Amino acid sequence: MNKKAKMDIREKLRILSAAAKYDVSCSSSGSSRCAPPGGLGDACSAGICHTWAADGRCVSLLKVLLSNACKYDCAYCVNRRSNDVPRATFTPKELIQLTIEFYRRNYIEGLFLSSAVIKDPDYTMELLVKIARELRTVHRFGGYIHLKAIPGASARLLYEAGLYADRSSVNIEVPSDRSLQYLAPEKNFASVYAPMNFFAERKLEYKASVSRYTPSFLPAGQSTQMIVGASGESDYQILSLSSGFYNQQKLKRVYYSGYVPINADKRLPVLTTKPPLVREHRLYQADWLMRFYKFRYDEILDEAHPNLDLELDPKIGWALRHPELFPVDIQHADYEMILRIPGIGVKSAQLIVSGRRFTKLRLEHLKKMGVVLKRAKYFIYHPDTPASLRRLYPEMVRPLLLPRPKSGQLDLFANAPLALPA
Ligand code: SF4
Repeated sequence: MNKKAKMDIREKLRILSAAAKYDVSCSSSGSSRCAPPGGLGDACSAGICHTWAADGRCVSLLKVLLSNACKYDCAYCVNRRSNDVPRATFTPKELIQLTIEFYRRNYIEGLFLSSAVIKDPDYTMELLVKIARELRTVHRFGGYIHLKAIPGASARLLYEAGLYADRSSVNIEVPSDRSLQYLAPEKNFASVYAPMNFFAERKLEYKASVSRYTPSFLPAGQSTQMIVGASGESDYQILSLSSGFYNQQKLKRVYYSGYVPINADKRLPVLTTKPPLVREHRLYQADWLMRFYKFRYDEILDEAHPNLDLELDPKIGWALRHPELFPVDIQHADYEMILRIPGIGVKSAQLIVSGRRFTKLRLEHLKKMGVVLKRAKYFIYHPDTPASLRRLYPEMVRPLLLPRPKSGQLDLFANAPLALPA
């Protein structure tokens, strides 16, 4: 590679890794460390980010776009055609070479490859697939590949993508078809759902095949991302959509991205405060409740309560709306009900269910099991609780669970006898 070409690739890498940063399907390392002169390694440039493997390992990925020269004009996107930003496009050969060289230097363990729509969806998808195919078949690359699926791409290309990539994602972008068509006129829900449904069906077919010669198809499944706060949908609508993705398209993850104003566009809201990061955080908590705590979306929120409480986590919010179910007798309650007690996680609930067979659980047992008593204590029942407190009074408990004001606040329950009887 001559020096001029090397410089070109470096510049492309700078532009296209910066352009990929708004995709939150994998999180950034957040480091700004640069290599000293003559040193080795550079954490800030070159688009290296981290994600988690199924076994909990953190793996580093080259996160980059094939191109940011987009034909489309989505209101919320930095790469839209009407923006005056530096444009760049890798050739498949350049991207393959970069991936292999970074891998050999131990900078990365995989590739997260997305792209703007270059000419049309099939043209772009063809290039993405070509890169994945050559990495797998010519270079025998065994690292992780996350490949974006371009809405509108043909089934043939999606099928090939599924054969070479570990995970694929197609972004739903905003939580309703109406908003998507308003903010991204060249897209609609049908074009986003088509690749999702295609992948879900092929995965089922591959799963049903018992032959050991059947190649794997998207072994790490698929994910999607939506922007929160760029359009007017409620959290109830967002969770309903996510719930459908988990149950019907069998997505592994839905990522939420608080709207960050990048473009001045009259179709977008003007933020008078900071981006809705607390809302984003609450949505992730609610999403967690659906995936690991067996909550249905319409239990977490309903039409009468369409938005998450920004001050309290959604599990507490749900418990306070259902005082009739609390306090819970942890010595006898079902596992499912124990799982719903604020301050008790999946592991603690399992330990409670197995531990209570041998002894009456006391507070010190619960503490050792990882129960967060400062939250759980308002929602668990024990015979020593004074009769007057053997009911959950949401209006009394809510202020006690809010972040403490600086002046300090008296805990009405602080001196209540909370120890469970032996
Ligand atoms: S198609 Fe993708 S890259 Fe192009 S403007 Fe829309 S969101 Fe941005």
